[in-house]
Amino acid sequence: MSYAYDDQNIFAKILRGEIPNNTVLETEHTLAFRDIAPKAPDHVLVIPKGPYVTFDHFCNTASEAEIVDFTRAAGQICKMIGAEPGAGGEGFRVISNAGEDGVQEVPHYHLHILAGRPLGPMLL
Ligand code: 5GP
Repeated sequence: MSYAYDDQNIFAKILRGEIPNNTVLETEHTLAFRDIAPKAPDHVLVIPKGPYVTFDHFCNTASEAEIVDFTRAAGQICKMIGAEPGAGGEGFRVISNAGEDGVQEVPHYHLHILAGRPLGPMLL
């Protein structure tokens, strides 16, 4: 499957520094920042710096270095916000929306990390 990446999407603009963001963590291949409309006390978006549209696109075309960096950064954020159960936190939820059925608003691959309150059942 091929994906057309729209470099005018909001996260691409954030990566280019054209729109400000509230950065939580930046690594070589990953940027994590707070969601502008948080759905929980902690709502962090984790994005790869490369031009990927969805989970599938990222997993199947990014380099191993990018995937490792991204995955470790996401894990680090769970600890940084105090949500990692293995580190004394109360837990969190990770979501990635893709395409129309997934109601993906921004066509740049990202994870939502939600924490800071009981999140209820997963189905909306
Ligand atoms: P999606 O539906 O694509 O999975 O989620 C996109 C998320 O990006 C939404 O939760 C929305 O609030 C967030 N968002 C949209 N525009 C901006 C922005 O300019 N800055 C930040 N920090 N988040 C944004």
